[in-house]
Amino acid sequence: VDLPIHDAVLGNAAEFGDIPALIDGVEGTTVTYSQLDLFTRRIAAALAESGVRKGDVLALHSPNTIAYPAVFYGATRAGASVTTVHPLSTPAEFAKQLRDSGARWIVTVSPLLDTARAAAEQAGGIAEIFVCDQAPGHRSVLEMLGSTAPEPDVDIDPAEDIAVLPYSSGTTGVPKGVMLTHRSIATNLVQLDPTMPSVPGDRILAVLPFFHIYGLTALMNGPLRRGVTVVVLPRFDLEQFLSAIEKHRIQGLYVAPPIVLALAKHPAVDGYDLSSLEYILSAAAPLDAELARACSTRLGIPPVLQAYGMTELSPGTHSVPRDSEDFPAGAVGKLLPSTEMRIVGLDDPDTDLGVGESGEIWIRGPQVMKGYFGRPEDTDAMIDKDGWLHTGDIGRVDDNGWLFVVDRVKELIKYKGYQVAPAELEALLLTDPRIADAAVIGVSDEDGQEIPKAFVVRQPGQTLTADDVVQFVAGQVAPYKKVRRVEFVDAVPRAISGKILRRELRARERSGSAS
Ligand code: ATP
Ligand code: MG
Repeated sequence: VDLPIHDAVLGNAAEFGDIPALIDGVEGTTVTYSQLDLFTRRIAAALAESGVRKGDVLALHSPNTIAYPAVFYGATRAGASVTTVHPLSTPAEFAKQLRDSGARWIVTVSPLLDTARAAAEQAGGIAEIFVCDQAPGHRSVLEMLGSTAPEPDVDIDPAEDIAVLPYSSGTTGVPKGVMLTHRSIATNLVQLDPTMPSVPGDRILAVLPFFHIYGLTALMNGPLRRGVTVVVLPRFDLEQFLSAIEKHRIQGLYVAPPIVLALAKHPAVDGYDLSSLEYILSAAAPLDAELARACSTRLGIPPVLQAYGMTELSPGTHSVPRDSEDFPAGAVGKLLPSTEMRIVGLDDPDTDLGVGESGEIWIRGPQVMKGYFGRPEDTDAMIDKDGWLHTGDIGRVDDNGWLFVVDRVKELIKYKGYQVAPAELEALLLTDPRIADAAVIGVSDEDGQEIPKAFVVRQPGQTLTADDVVQFVAGQVAPYKKVRRVEFVDAVPRAISGKILRRELRARERSGSAS
């Protein structure tokens, strides 16, 4: 699809007129579709007037706000590539991303201005820092809305020009800047659109951070293209989240598995009227079938939908079509149109595996990234000469083409020649009502043998011993999959995108702070 992303997403915005495009879930402030359309044009004009040129990189450093999409599409309309920044980054982390992405411009919010200034100073090369709200000495986006500057005439080549430079989550290593062209994003949005559950008139709740590719899909994919209203929350706070669903009569949630877990298990859920909910979409990490069922049963809604993808895939390759009458629990979806997939042997990538066999997922299609920014070797390690992107994820398909994601290749625990997927054990642990949360990694025992170790958060008020945990698992899995060590923790470390940071647990284990 050869359109700049602002045209692909907001092409109908003016027509939707007074329908609210965005609502601040806490304050209730609204941006209508015609305002959103106008605001992106004014911001583009003002940015161009300030010197932003085609090909410049603009760092967007903000929590989720209703201004976010106007700045985002205003910047792409001015021809900039937007690199989205974690709002909780330290100055050093932010400076690293500024240097790595070659950013020249920053848009931040006044509460984060000190961090942005420090980062700009450390990184160098920043021409100007704008603020969304107001701060002395900085041009304000609010004031840009009154701009009378002419709209810039930018000639975007959708196939070549980078629209967004998001960073991967850094779950397995250093976050990498991913070059996504206008075409790859616009194509993916058209590929995903017929499957996405939101229909005009719906209100969806956007609580996942916009800086991460999945949170960004609430702005880049179906919703804004279709005249759906996006209710925005700045961060995940369970009570605030539940109260926003009740207050705004939300139909749809785009969430990650930890939120599904909270909806399935947390006692606070019973205190709210969630009867407006019609669907939940989960992605970004493995979601167990039992957990998904527990959530939808408790809320009295159809089965939780899933989608699968990664930053490098703009981001989607699989989703559960919205008209699916019936789909196997735990499936992440079906392959999107004009996308190819191979499932190859872990030890033998020349072999394509058959139905039901687990192997590495390879993807080829128009949504594959252009590459990692400034990291040609990493790009070559990820995309082979035939254009296949090696996801590093393990999956299998059933007879009807439904994909199931097992875990990441790198996370597999090798116990005596057997392979154990931590995600499977985590899912099993969560079926125990005494367990609130759990994570599993491989650790070395006294003989240097890799064994599964569980980190378990007890459900409040439960007495549960390590032995109980070991017994519970042993009763339900083949002996080689048994959890052989248990540690109780207060919380499982997770990335803001919802992924378990097993890498952190491994580091803790190595440094010996764990028992
Ligand atoms: P990094 O690449 O920097 O280590 P990351 O891979 O976590 O971080 P993302 O691009 O945010 O960065 O996440 C993509 C990954 O998320 C996929 O490779 C996959 O492991 C996981 N994932 C996404 N959707 C699903 C899903 N529905 N089920 C299971 N896992 C999923
Ligand atoms: Mg990755």
